[in-house]
Amino acid sequence: MSYERDNIHALSAYAPGEQPESREVVKLNTNENPYPPPAGVLEAIAKVTGDMLRRYPPPLAPRFRQVAAMAHGLKPEQVIATNAGDELLRLVVTVFCRPQTESRGKGGLGYAEPSYSLYPVLGRIHDTQITTAALNDDFNLPDDLADRMNKAGCNLLLIVNPHAPSGRLSDLKSLESIARTFKGVIVIDEAYVDFAETSALPLLEAKMKLDNVLLLRTLSKGYSLAGLRFGYGLGHPDLIAALDKARDSYNTDIIAQTAAIAAIENREYAKNTWQKVKIERVRVSDELRRRGFTVYPSHANFILVAPPGSSDTGPSKAASLYETLKQQHVYVRYFNQDRLRDKLRITIGRPEENDTLLRVLDVVSMDGN
Ligand SMILES: *Cc1c(COP(=O)(O)O)cnc(C)c1O
Repeated sequence: MSYERDNIHALSAYAPGEQPESREVVKLNTNENPYPPPAGVLEAIAKVTGDMLRRYPPPLAPRFRQVAAMAHGLKPEQVIATNAGDELLRLVVTVFCRPQTESRGKGGLGYAEPSYSLYPVLGRIHDTQITTAALNDDFNLPDDLADRMNKAGCNLLLIVNPHAPSGRLSDLKSLESIARTFKGVIVIDEAYVDFAETSALPLLEAKMKLDNVLLLRTLSKGYSLAGLRFGYGLGHPDLIAALDKARDSYNTDIIAQTAAIAAIENREYAKNTWQKVKIERVRVSDELRRRGFTVYPSHANFILVAPPGSSDTGPSKAASLYETLKQQHVYVRYFNQDRLRDKLRITIGRPEENDTLLRVLDVVSMDGN
């Protein structure tokens, strides 16, 4: 006998990347920033007092909203603080998608495939209609994406930009055109924007007159704080106010708020780590191309690569290379799904970690793997 709702009973939970206990591994599988957070963040956490912990935290994280608004040239009413990006994604599905029982399939969730594998899980938990569109061969967004999502009656469109897992960046013009054509809310998931040259922030300028655009930001990748669980949304004050009604009353804790404020205030330090990652991204991409890999041009802190001689059909060279690397204590990410089966996603690490990856690849390729 199962007690849960049918959609939960049928659900396959989100499968996160491996988090090996050992410190000995070279961990290039879950897109963490390889550099530590700035000292200012740890100092701020050390100053948290018993009295601060005794009390409930400020529910709206007003100081964080102020600091983030300043950093992005927005107003605090355009910022919502969340328990990392994943909570924001859950919130937008809750607030903007209709469950099938009350909607006959209208008002659902749309996204292009492949993308973040949490999206379908959140849609299924909410029991909303899910509409997908295949990305082009180069992982670019199809031109008619917004039209198709309108026809399917979607209320919410999720777009990862820079795209995961390919690293491709859509330009502002295409995003603006989608936002103007799409009739629902468009979330631009900018989890990796810190490693790109441009963001969709200009779409939020008042003169754009777009009230349906929400940007997702997280401190997990760019700010080296995946363990803290802090993210935020940027958008029209009405969108923010709607999301605000549906979040947990105290969704971000006092330690996280304190550390998040310090992280934004120490943005110059984080920027320096982004620069180092970008330099390594170029080097590792070149080195892998020299070794016969196909490397997709990336604007994120990871690269999607196909090993030499791999193809979409037949036994996957990528899968066996993933296993071989793991035996050598180098963790990368393998997705056993359409269009990714013949590829690996590799997070850019510190130079010495990337060197280990390249060295191990050279050794295993000499073994005839
Ligand atoms: C990492 C990631 C997020 C958010 O992660 P959090 O750690 O929950 O902030 C959102 N979207 C994509 C595509 C990501 O890779």
